[in-house]
Amino acid sequence: MEESMRAMVLRAPGQPLREERLPIPRPGPEELLLRVHACAVCRTDLHVVDGELPHPKLPLVPGHEVVATVVSTGERVRAFPEGTRVGVPWLGWSCGQCRYCVSGRENLCDLARFTGYQADGGYAEYMVAHERFCFPLPAGYSHVHAAPLMCAGLIGFRCLRMTGDAERLGLYGFGAAAHVLLQVARYQGRRVFAFTRPGDVDGQRFARELGAVWAGGSDTPPPEPLDAAILFAPVGALVPVALAAVEKGGVVVCGGIHMSDIPAFPYALLWGERVVRSVANLTRADALDFLALAPSVPVRTEVQVFPLSEANAALSALRAGHVRGAAVLDVDAEG
Ligand SMILES: [Zn+2]
Ligand SMILES: [Zn+2]
Repeated sequence: MEESMRAMVLRAPGQPLREERLPIPRPGPEELLLRVHACAVCRTDLHVVDGELPHPKLPLVPGHEVVATVVSTGERVRAFPEGTRVGVPWLGWSCGQCRYCVSGRENLCDLARFTGYQADGGYAEYMVAHERFCFPLPAGYSHVHAAPLMCAGLIGFRCLRMTGDAERLGLYGFGAAAHVLLQVARYQGRRVFAFTRPGDVDGQRFARELGAVWAGGSDTPPPEPLDAAILFAPVGALVPVALAAVEKGGVVVCGGIHMSDIPAFPYALLWGERVVRSVANLTRADALDFLALAPSVPVRTEVQVFPLSEANAALSALRAGHVRGAAVLDVDAEG
């Protein structure tokens, strides 16, 4: 095997990624060495690259929606034979012993480590990942189409769970997560109202094509009250907007890892047992449940594919709101 690999590397937040050759990492006792096929580009990658999330590992290989094949395994790994195709998500490790971990809430572990943030991720030809946070992927998805399931799908699914049995569901920010979630929500018999950036008629058309009963700008109230709303746009000003759109007892779920400040709003918007809550990361159960559900919906991901070396262009397209569905790096495409 080669000794070095191509990788897109963050040397300092605020600067573009640089294409470099790095040594191929070695797996620890409970880790897998993975050959990366594809890695989707998440809004959280933008927050990492832009320096909006504190203290990233540096230098860093970003990327946490990884589709890869097991090349070799650490001495204590039993579950994943070589050649298994796995997905790697944002949550890369948790302690397994704290009160959060032992109650199935490892997403809240104080010692948790995150892929493509505190550990090198999938913007590279190889990476290592802990076996507890690698998940077999459903057959029937190509590498690039499976990649967005690993964060847009997983964390979106956790957000959807937090809306309970809401029948009228608003999705604010119609990007990768919303385009997956809309399909799951319809499958569950919910009606989806999609809110895009004001004036984004292409995004609104895309949402209607996927089955939204209504699509409009986030500055427009929905045609009827909602039971719940999920915010994927990292815009704190949308919290009072969404609260005004949900009925009594409704919940507003903030799905992003980073959000601008929430402006002050009148208590009347929260009154009536409305709830505002965040969703942090994902649990292993979210991953297992969602990856089992996706093929039965079936969730189909729309992807815009970039070669690995074009990671900066993919990030720019996402920042500009020019991606329909999910941006994905096809790591197999060159080299
Ligand atoms: Zn993500
Ligand atoms: Zn823990």
